[in-house]
Amino acid sequence: MEKMDFRTQAFEIARAQAGVRPMTATEVASYVAEVTQALESAMQDTPAKPVIDPRNSIGESYVTCLECGKKFKVMTIRHLRLHGLTAKGYKAKWGIKKDVSLAAKSLVRMRRKKMQEMRLWERKGNQEK
Ligand SMILES: [Zn+2]
Repeated sequence: MEKMDFRTQAFEIARAQAGVRPMTATEVASYVAEVTQALESAMQDTPAKPVIDPRNSIGESYVTCLECGKKFKVMTIRHLRLHGLTAKGYKAKWGIKKDVSLAAKSLVRMRRKKMQEMRLWERKGNQEK
């Protein structure tokens, strides 16, 4: 990818952002610079092949971005956008099942447990009515 493409891409992202919340010209400029830099550094350490086996990208305590190899507790939509991807697109590209959370397994487990506890509480609450 050419350097120019990063700028163009960054502008697109900035424009999308500006549509969501009002931004001053200075904000847009610094945002574009920031995104351009992020895109460049992301591309620099992007190998031709995925960093690791996509099946192993979601680990116990972190999830590895298959685009740039960065590790996260939770992979955010915002990060994926830097690669020009949506969560859906990312999963499709790397053959990850739709229902898989792009988050560390331990975190997903903890969240699931909390949800179950909440549901139990709700059920208890309903019974008392
Ligand atoms: Zn990435």
